[in-house]
Amino acid sequence: MGADAAVIATIGANLSRIEERIERAVGRAGRRREEVTLVAVSKTFPADAVRAAYEAGLRHFGENRVQEWESKRPHLTDLNITMHLVGHLQSNKARRAAQLFHRVDSVDSTAVAQKLDAAESLLRPHLGVLVEVHLGDEKTKSGVVESELPPLADAIVKFARLELLGLMAVPPFLDDAQKVRPYFAKLRELRDDLSTRIGRSLPVLSMGMSHDFEVAIEEGATEIRIGTALFGSRPAVPL
Ligand SMILES: *Cc1c(COP(=O)(O)O)cnc(C)c1O
Repeated sequence: MGADAAVIATIGANLSRIEERIERAVGRAGRRREEVTLVAVSKTFPADAVRAAYEAGLRHFGENRVQEWESKRPHLTDLNITMHLVGHLQSNKARRAAQLFHRVDSVDSTAVAQKLDAAESLLRPHLGVLVEVHLGDEKTKSGVVESELPPLADAIVKFARLELLGLMAVPPFLDDAQKVRPYFAKLRELRDDLSTRIGRSLPVLSMGMSHDFEVAIEEGATEIRIGTALFGSRPAVPL
């Protein structure tokens, strides 16, 4: 099933605008374009939209629900993509997640990590994981608080099949993206401290979404997760 020409054109045009913004942000930060990976977050959009983004050149994709990706994946098995799970993972879905994703970017408990480690991955011998850190005060957000991060990281590095690559966060949504900067700086600091603690490099900092990715890049993001700016706005009610 090929992607519709109009969809490809729209996504291609959106991607060009995003790329210009990434270029300017890496320029301001004195970084190189290759240091930042764009993860296209395709939640709520059909398999055709993923295919269109692939045809526009993207290779990293993110979904926030295991079942949603499970239903799109059969239409996209010919694409050579890296799939990231970016949404909260319940431990009863961990086994399936390990089979369907190359990366789990939202690990927030030892129970989930243990289930991911125990699952037989069909994709890779090692499963790359990020720990999701909860920044800000909202009680509803997932992720571990700062004090829970070191013990969780210590547990993950002992699991033979998991490869701890870094940290992820979804900071509070603030209209002025500049006000999100301290949260991004905080995540980088937590990553640096954790790296020292466990004595290995943690190369990945996944932070920044459609409205604040430039600030995230300036603060050291190595992966930005873009949905709306690429695919358009999502239905107001989550699927
Ligand atoms: C939906 C989502 C994104 C993308 O958000 P946009 O604002 O549409 O770019 C990024 N990260 C996570 C965890 C998400 O759930």
